[in-house]
Amino acid sequence: MYSKNAWEKYDNEKLDELMKFNEEYKNFITFGKTERLVVAESIKLLEEKGFKPIDEFKTLKEGDKVYAINRNKNVFAFIIGKEKASKGINVLGAHIDSPRIDLKQNPLYESFDFALLDTHYYGGVKKYQWVTIPLALHGVVAKKDGTVIDINVGEDENDPIFCITDLLIHLSADQLQKTASKVIEGENLDVTIGSMPLKGEEKESVKANILKILKEKYNFEEEDFVSAEIEVVPAGNARDLGFDRSMVAGYGHDDRVCAYTSLRAILDLKETPTKTVCCALVDKEEVGSIGATGAQSNFFENVIAEIINLQENYNDLLLRRCLSNSNMLSSDVSAGVDPLYVGVNELKNSAYLGKGIVFNKYTGARGKSGCNDASAEYVAKLRKIMDENDINYQTAELGKVDQGGGGTIAYILANLNMNVIDAGISVLNMHAPMEVVSKVDVYEAYKAYIAFLLNA
Ligand code: MN
Ligand code: MN
Repeated sequence: MYSKNAWEKYDNEKLDELMKFNEEYKNFITFGKTERLVVAESIKLLEEKGFKPIDEFKTLKEGDKVYAINRNKNVFAFIIGKEKASKGINVLGAHIDSPRIDLKQNPLYESFDFALLDTHYYGGVKKYQWVTIPLALHGVVAKKDGTVIDINVGEDENDPIFCITDLLIHLSADQLQKTASKVIEGENLDVTIGSMPLKGEEKESVKANILKILKEKYNFEEEDFVSAEIEVVPAGNARDLGFDRSMVAGYGHDDRVCAYTSLRAILDLKETPTKTVCCALVDKEEVGSIGATGAQSNFFENVIAEIINLQENYNDLLLRRCLSNSNMLSSDVSAGVDPLYVGVNELKNSAYLGKGIVFNKYTGARGKSGCNDASAEYVAKLRKIMDENDINYQTAELGKVDQGGGGTIAYILANLNMNVIDAGISVLNMHAPMEVVSKVDVYEAYKAYIAFLLNA
């Protein structure tokens, strides 16, 4: 029952393909630092492969490639199968939000001749990991006149960066007595953005200078922060990790690594699938999948209803039947075994970097609380598909019993009475500013997702 290391089966030619795929992935996450940017890049890739927005279709037929977007934070892509969508669809679902630090609605203030931005962290973060590292700002400022200004500072090598400061070791005697969850307080995650006063300005002159720069460069005022969404994320590119370049280190693998491999699976499909296939990229997983752009939104059902309506005389029963006959891989990352911290895992049932895609039959915490639990029959079907397509895969659960736990979007789609299982890529340093994945797992997941779309 011990999964094999996936690298062993790769000859030089296959290895080149694997490495090239990972270069493309690195570019994707280097650009895609927010859910909005991932959607923008995904639309570009979809359009290049002939996918068209759903509202451009009067009817849908076999082989048609279609996509739908929701508030610039979700993108769902479909290829219409040989069978009608109402017979059931095969779905790859991944989330494109990642843990980060958001600006508050009234963020800008001056203190001791520094200008700072006040923040509220998003998702599960170890706050001490986010101080004293180079940070970039990405997002939008929506103005009352309807214009939306894009903000993107800190990625270009000629851009300035930003940072959250931390206390010097020499004066940290009290701070270091605190527990790790308190050593950096949530209200201390404020970002330093300037220190130069505006000449001739007497009150809060450093802040005034920042506002002058923002007005000149981006044409917005302080009050426009109220209708902005600006995310503070690690600055810089995804990079190869290790002398052997076997891993990718970067921000946002959770879950953009599964989002990218799922998207590429549908983009690169070479034949018309029997079933209609879908790649669904959703937002807000890291905060509970709630709201209009989370997996719990009606958007998913609405889009499928639209698709059915473009194929046959729509009625609600067709939608219900479609959902009940659908299969899904909840494409989300797994916690890879870290050799420095093996104590948190039960090693027979853990995910390892380099051993291929990971299936989590169930997630949850304590007595499997809150878990989706894929049926044995569905797992058997997927094993067969993986084996017939020479995919390296492994099964795992999230740590030892009672060590902690977590969940994904799996249960939400399972509530629609679909077959759903978690299937994704192992990550080290999950939720840290720099996460790590194995390149072979990225490529094996991509191939697994293609096999699933064609055969489930
Ligand atoms: Mn995730
Ligand atoms: Mn996560």
